[in-house]
Amino acid sequence: MRRPHVTILGGGSWGTAVASIAARNAPTTIWARDEATVEDINTRHINSRYLGDLPINPALRATTDLAQAVAQADVLVLGVPSQACRAVLGEAADHLRPWVPVVSLVKGLEQGSQLRMTEVVSEVLPGHPVGVLNGPNIAREIVQGYAAAATLAMPDQQLAESLQGILRSTMFRVYTSTDVVGVEVAGALKNIFAIATGFGDGLEAGDNTRAMVITRSLRELTRLGVAMGGHEQTFSGLAGMGDLIATCTSPHSRNRRVGIMLAQGKNLDEIAAELKQVAEGVKSSSVVVELAREHGVEMRIAREVDAVINHGQAVVKAYRGLLREAPEHE
Ligand code: 13P
Repeated sequence: MRRPHVTILGGGSWGTAVASIAARNAPTTIWARDEATVEDINTRHINSRYLGDLPINPALRATTDLAQAVAQADVLVLGVPSQACRAVLGEAADHLRPWVPVVSLVKGLEQGSQLRMTEVVSEVLPGHPVGVLNGPNIAREIVQGYAAAATLAMPDQQLAESLQGILRSTMFRVYTSTDVVGVEVAGALKNIFAIATGFGDGLEAGDNTRAMVITRSLRELTRLGVAMGGHEQTFSGLAGMGDLIATCTSPHSRNRRVGIMLAQGKNLDEIAAELKQVAEGVKSSSVVVELAREHGVEMRIAREVDAVINHGQAVVKAYRGLLREAPEHE
């Protein structure tokens, strides 16, 4: 049987890492807008803009031609920042064959519509089966070959199992799930909590504070995730607790770094210039607070993050606000 062709949209760090794995299992093309990135991947087998000089699979092909990349896809993987997804999918729509499954790697929510990315996919590409891959997956560690795992959630378990074989390697284990909502919501929410953890770390508050913020964050994440239709057990799994721990503690996490830099007194423009990458939690913090309000879920940590990012609240005040809250029954 012909091996399916995998097309990844987005030449950022995580798109490249997943493409590098898929290229071991199937012919794989990555689409990136940036010509230098495409040249890097095709000729030097690195992505210097996002992954320094870490070697990536030489079998991976890159192109700036979206139409060509999408037309050959038997599996489409979405790895562009959340606020660009709708536009890129719109460009792809005319070229994608019917019924091609789409897997989202995106950990964000669309501003305005409040939609999850699989919902955006279903709106722009109706009729395509769509799922999400999420877990504690710091891209550079996976490219370096350190052991890691993620959950692939698709509504159809059989399809998830057939895609599992394409997205895994001996060092990257892929578990399947049918809880698309839970896996996807967990991935989007953890970014806000990584920013909150960064506040504490930037203020040099110590290990107890970090553990407190992460633990209470898991509670908030689970409450909203369940209210939105996710399964409770998903939030203690790889996509929930796993990704929360990785993102709240890794020195490589963009979102945690945003929190640290805000605590150091930098503004969002300065931070964006220093990061040179999208930290999804910055845009999704207001969406999360709106969703929490609509679902009647109390989310104190998310509210403090939104207050700092969107309403000029000082980090020190947000941090004190977290501590001042009346103690709850655990
Ligand atoms: P950042 O976007 O904060 O770097 O998150 C990394 C991540 O999602 C790890 O699983």
